[in-house]
Amino acid sequence: MNHLLEIKDLRVEFSTDAGTVRAVDGVSYNVDRGETLAIVGESGCGKSVSALSIMGLLPKPAARIRSGEILFNGVDLLGLDNGAMRHIRGKEIAMVFQEPMTSLNPLLTIGVQLTEALQLHMNMNLSQAWTRAQELLERVEISEAQRRLKKYPHHLSGGMRQRVMLALALSCEPKLIIADEPTTALDVTIQAQILELMKDLTHEMGMALVIITHNLGIVARYADTVNIMYAGKIVEGGAAKDIYASPRHPYTQGLMKSVPRPDLPREAKLVPIEGQPPDLSQLPPGCSFQPRCPYAVDLCSQEAPLLLETSLKHTAACWLVDEIEAVV
Ligand code: SF4
Repeated sequence: MNHLLEIKDLRVEFSTDAGTVRAVDGVSYNVDRGETLAIVGESGCGKSVSALSIMGLLPKPAARIRSGEILFNGVDLLGLDNGAMRHIRGKEIAMVFQEPMTSLNPLLTIGVQLTEALQLHMNMNLSQAWTRAQELLERVEISEAQRRLKKYPHHLSGGMRQRVMLALALSCEPKLIIADEPTTALDVTIQAQILELMKDLTHEMGMALVIITHNLGIVARYADTVNIMYAGKIVEGGAAKDIYASPRHPYTQGLMKSVPRPDLPREAKLVPIEGQPPDLSQLPPGCSFQPRCPYAVDLCSQEAPLLLETSLKHTAACWLVDEIEAVV
């Protein structure tokens, strides 16, 4: 059976005053129906650009897709015109952004925004759409749904707005939801509640979920698979439980030590990764992580390692992958 989403050797470039930025540089991955995939990395690593490419929302003309394929249900989205992409967005693939206020219209009530989407994509009349909108708010665990439908976005808390965004994403029963840093702006407890809800509802409704985040700690409980991205490439990927238990790439190990984790005491010491992510318009030769890597050897600055299967059944791009201990 085909994968629901197949990204093949995707390369996305941006033209900037400083030169060409290779934001996504040969990324390939698959997502199956019902699967939750997390794409993890620091800001500027290319994770959000790869998501915007799927949605056909890259800023033009600065961004261009140099090569690759994005197959959704076997159809290459890169070959579709704007009209066909508009149909896919919302109906087949929905997106949840970090800041709901950028996606919700502040001048329209929650009820109007939900019913408009349902009437447009699900061919419902107004009365059916209101009933469904109320059900959706209840599914995302918003109390007094009928009353909240009459509220404007600014009447709701950040957590509640994010639940409304999730209800909007679910409203057209898409096959795939892409959530870009969906909980970063929220309090830790609310983050956990929303991620849990997102995972449960998409699973129950048979949808695939891609969570884009900088926080490896929080995805371990919610994702089935994880891709770690650095400087436009996937540097480690595999089952979330394997990567969480035995991260092999030095960058993944650095991420694990630098963020709070639910399995460690609150007072556990966090160790930031030394240095800064590289300038993508002037990448060093060899491994892009080399200037920050505590294990780097001469070869690392000469040749870039390929993403290969490790002895632990997940993939990693590091010359020393089978020599570095899984330090967590
Ligand atoms: Fe570090 Fe070398 Fe591995 Fe890159 S290839 S992560 S520099 S050890």
